[in-house]
This record gives sequence, structure tokens and C-alpha cells, in this order.
Amino acid sequence: MAKKVAVIGAGPGGLYAAKEAAGLGLNVTLFDKGKIGENIVCAEGFFDLLKILPPPVAGICFPVEEIVFSVIDTFLIDCSQLHIWMIDRSKWQKALKAEAAALGCKIEEQLSIGPKEFRQLEKEFDWIIDATGVQCLSSSIYHLPPVRTAPTIQYTLEGDFTSFIGKIKAVADPRYCGYAWIFPQNAYVANVGLGWFGKREKGLQLRNELHSFLQREGLAHYDVVKRVGGPIPVARRQKIVFNKTLLIGDAAGLSSPLHGGGIDTACISGILAARAIAQQQPQHYAAAVEKIIGAKLNLEEKILKVWEYADFAAFNKLCALSFGQKETTFLQKMLLSLTQEAAILQYVQSGKLRADWQRGLVLDDLPFIAKKIMQKLMKTAP
Ligand SMILES: Cc1cc2nc3c(=O)[nH]c(=O)nc-3n(C[C@H](O)[C@H](O)[C@H](O)COP(=O)(O)OP(=O)(O)OC[C@H]3O[C@@H](n4cnc5c(N)ncnc54)[C@H](O)[C@@H]3O)c2cc1C
Repeated sequence: MAKKVAVIGAGPGGLYAAKEAAGLGLNVTLFDKGKIGENIVCAEGFFDLLKILPPPVAGICFPVEEIVFSVIDTFLIDCSQLHIWMIDRSKWQKALKAEAAALGCKIEEQLSIGPKEFRQLEKEFDWIIDATGVQCLSSSIYHLPPVRTAPTIQYTLEGDFTSFIGKIKAVADPRYCGYAWIFPQNAYVANVGLGWFGKREKGLQLRNELHSFLQREGLAHYDVVKRVGGPIPVARRQKIVFNKTLLIGDAAGLSSPLHGGGIDTACISGILAARAIAQQQPQHYAAAVEKIIGAKLNLEEKILKVWEYADFAAFNKLCALSFGQKETTFLQKMLLSLTQEAAILQYVQSGKLRADWQRGLVLDDLPFIAKKIMQKLMKTAP
């Protein structure tokens, strides 16, 4: 008889896990405390930097062609070789729900699972996938220590965003390690927010900083249609398999420490958890996550540390070296090979970084020196 799998939480991670597990012939029930595709807190930029996932099945607003990144100077980061989309998560998640249901997954919405219900599920199901997000259920069940989180605030604004189509914008600030963002959904609606990923000056307040950002960007008079925010987990959990429970996505602390994006890693970890269960080798799940996602998070953590501890002018220089010019001179090439973080950023931007389900991060497309730098940096977190 097919193994029974309970997936708790129907965000991107839970939906991908449920779909994958049902597709592999497992008997899956997906639970969510709310209605799927509602109450989403996200800027809705889907960054599949590892180029491992298929494009979103629905809800693509537009492929992102350029990131406008302001430090002291403004850099135009060409994203044409990358897999980045602005999406409507509500439409996307509703489509994923329909796909999961079509594959035979049972879906229970508006059913919150607490510790008591969890103990019951443990009796009824062979495996449980905890996809309950940043304040995950497992943390109270298994008394897990809190993970490091990045605070954020975000408004959805209505106004004229016609000049942003095809682009997203991020703005760094000398007083904190983090950035403010403008992520448009269409010509008239955008998610505009702010998050702190590393150290910052004392006494700053997210709301005040967002309001002065809106002033500077000429957006302060736009209509605010939604106010959200909250923590993003930016350090992964040391352990992500407990008894018969596998943690995925934000529950496992898999968001990017550098920019907070966690949609891609939630989907990838969901697929990996389902496959490990189907192969009856759930103990391989943590190793697979480490191989594919861990290497990426290690690289991002290194860049974050440079951002955090370099002064603003030095960080601007790093960005100039990474994104400033397409044609590099011999001298710049030498400098680039000495500045490892700039080398990583340039290779990521060139679209040469990718991952494979079996091999993890694939470095075949990189020049020899770049490959060596990456191999060294990927091994350990700073
Ligand atoms: C302001 C902000 C902006 C962001 N912008 C981006 C971005 O642009 N790009 C990006 O990649 N990432 C972004 N992120 C991060 C991204 O939203 C998360 O990394 C991603 O949603 C994680 O997916 P998940 O499936 O692990 O968890 P979630 O999306 O959090 O889903 C968890 C699900 O579990 C359900 N649930 C929780 N508890 C229970 C329970 N006890 N019983 C039943 N159901 C339960 C919830 O209802 C929810 O549906 C942003 C985060 C914030 C806060």
C-alpha cells in the first residue's frame, strides 16, 4: 500500500512537496490553516538562480530583465541570462493546488494543526512534511532553538509604475546592511518594502525608513492598499529531519541570507523531501538539501559578510567591479580574480551558475579560476 504523507502548510514549499509526492504515487494529504493562495506576505519576485525549476505554471506577471541596484552609484544588472520572474503568488498557488488535487492529493483547508493534532497525524501517517513557514510547528513540538531572522516591512502601492515594467529595483543604505525594494506586479501596482539582513545603526525603525524611502522615490502620495511585513529566516536549521518529520522551506530556515528570497528554496526542498520519502530514504533528504541549496546559501552568506563589514564606499566598489562594466580590461580581470565575492557575483549575473538534482551546484560552465574560487567558497559557511 502507498505510504501516507501529511504535508502541513500550503505555501510554495508545501504545494511543491504535495505535488511531487502525489506524482510519485504516495498517498498525500495537504493541510493549511487558511485558504490556499490567500494572506500571502511576499514581494513576489521568484529568483531561481540555480536554474533548476520549471517556470511557474501560472501567475507570471513578467520575466525580470534588469535589476536596478543603487548603492552610491546605480548599477543596471542584466538578468537576461537568469531565471527571475515577478509573479502573482495567489494565482500561482491556486494553480499548484489544482495540479496537486488532479494528481490525487487530498486537500484540507482552514484547518490549523496544533501540537495535539500533530501527535494524531503522527499516528495516522507514515511521514510528515512540516512546511509551516518561519514560525514552524516543529519548533514547539521539538523545542527547536530560534533561527536568525531578518525583519521586514512592506506596502502594496497603487500608482504609476509604468517605468518599472521588466525591472525590479533595490536600494542599499549606509546605515544598515539590507535594502529597500520596488517589485512591480504590473504598471499600476507594486510591492514596496524594506528588510534588514545584517548589522545596522541603533535606533532605526523599519516604518520610518520605509516612509523616507517612499519620499525619496516620489511614491509617498501613492495609495497604500496593503501593509504587511514580518521575519524572514536567514540561517538554516542545523537539523531538518526529526523522527518521521522533514522540515522544508522557511520551516528549515532556507531563505537567502543575502536578499531574503525563499520561494525557490522552498520549492526545491519540497521536491527533495517528497523524493526522499518516495525512495524510502528520508535520511538522504538533509544531505540532498546541503548539496543543492547549502552550497548556494554558503556563497550568499559570504557576500553578505562583505556587505556587512565593508564600508559603504568599499561595497559600492565591489558592486562596480561585479556589475559595472561588461567589457573587462586585463587589470579588472586580475582584480576580479583577487576579489572573490565580485567574481561570484559576476558569474551569477552571467547566468553560468546552475544546479542539477544529482550533482548539486554545477560549475562546468565556469572558467578554471572561477571554478576553483567557487569550490573553495562553497565548502564552508563563514
Ligand atoms: C515582506 C516579505 C517579502 C518577501 N519577498 C520575497 C520575494 O520577493 N521572493 C522570494 O523568493 N521570497 C520572498 N519572501 C520570502 C518568502 O515569502 C518565503 O521564503 C516563502 O513564502 C517560504 O515558503 P514556505 O512554503 O516555506 O512557507 P510559507 O509561504 O510561509 O507557507 C507556510 C504555510 O503554512 C501554513 N501554516 C502555518 N502554520 C500552520 C499550521 N499550524 N497548520 C496549518 N497550516 C499552517 C500557512 O497558512 C502558509 O500557507 C518574502 C518574505 C517577506 C516577509
